[in-house]
Amino acid sequence: MSEEIRDVIIVGSGPAGWTAALYAARAGLNPLVIGGAIDAGGALMRTTTVENFPGFPEGIFGPDLMTKMQEQAEKFGAEMIYEDVTDFQLEGDVKVLRTDDDAVYRARTVILSLGSAYRKLGLDGEAQFSARGVSYCATCDGFFFKDQEIAVVGGGDSAVTDALFLTRFASKVHVIHRRDELRASKIMADRLLADPKVEMHWNSQVVDILGEDGGSANAVVLRDTQTGEEHTLPVGGVFVAIGQEPRTDILGGQVQLDDHGYIVVQEPGTATSLPGVFAAGDVVDHVYCQAITAAGTGARAALDAQHYLEQQSALALAARQSLADGQNSADGQTTGGTPAASDTQTAENGQAKDNASQPDSAVIGDTALSANSAAASTGNSAE
Ligand code: NDP
Repeated sequence: MSEEIRDVIIVGSGPAGWTAALYAARAGLNPLVIGGAIDAGGALMRTTTVENFPGFPEGIFGPDLMTKMQEQAEKFGAEMIYEDVTDFQLEGDVKVLRTDDDAVYRARTVILSLGSAYRKLGLDGEAQFSARGVSYCATCDGFFFKDQEIAVVGGGDSAVTDALFLTRFASKVHVIHRRDELRASKIMADRLLADPKVEMHWNSQVVDILGEDGGSANAVVLRDTQTGEEHTLPVGGVFVAIGQEPRTDILGGQVQLDDHGYIVVQEPGTATSLPGVFAAGDVVDHVYCQAITAAGTGARAALDAQHYLEQQSALALAARQSLADGQNSADGQTTGGTPAASDTQTAENGQAKDNASQPDSAVIGDTALSANSAAASTGNSAE
């Protein structure tokens, strides 16, 4: 079990996590990114071309964007492990995280960029045929439905993006939406409605997913939301794209959540209800939910963590100084006035710290905020 106490651990490796890692790494905080055992890279790993991330006029494939973000953060010293955090202890000065590999990691600050999970329809057939005709990832599974008719459920950008992608494989894509108007952005909606392989089913709710016992899904039952009439639509596969839900169950109520399960932060900052714990990305935001906005909150979270560490460091130094001053005056009274060396402090781990030769090094708790982190953060703030 490692006893190392890091400055920053970032949980999650989507746009928010990697941007936080980039900023923290450039501030010399040597962040560890616990990026997920299966879901590393977040939602963009399951999307196709991203056309609205600035800097890529031709668009960029979602997984490529995530790889570039990772490379950029690692170039400045961020470390990544592909594990899932299974237990968080976020209270106190030192946060303790345990992973599915039973490894334990400690840090003075934690940035929660846990992302979101697929929202489900909540139907028995959905669970029964999950991964057997029911999918949440068009880019992962679309290929398996070559020349078949497919249903896509939802009316947002995810459903539209998925449906358009699936037209590459499917003979026909049925888009099933519960209203008579798409939620998706106009440019995407227009593309969808113009596609000859797409058939829209407006005002339609999926009320069942059918298939053979032990086999795959082969039909959906649709209910007209206005007339209540039901009919069965035979399809080879069903892609559910009805939005996301924040992955906050695992936090066990340690940080304050809103009524929908999103982490509450002290806007415009990223501080949660627990000191030293910050949150960024989809786990906080249910309004904008864009890669670029997630990246923006990741940057803010890293800067907030950096400022928190600097404040803690200054407080700890002041407390030690005042303790040393008290000790010196007590020693002066009892030993005839021999003062302790003013430029040398003994850290609790037994190592002597020469503060005169390391002016940027500061002590927090029982370990030091590294000299290069303070130096780098000074350089960084000149941006
Ligand atoms: P959204 O919340 O935007 O859309 C969810 C859709 O699913 C809505 O049309 C909603 O219907 C429908 N829905 C929700 N619950 C149910 C249910 N129980 N049964 C049937 N239908 C349901 O989620 P998205 O994942 O589409 O998008 C999330 C965010 O990510 C958005 O901000 C979007 O713009 C962004 N995004 C951007 C992309 C891009 O720019 N390339 C690609 C993908 C997503 P209703 O409309 O009636 O509420």
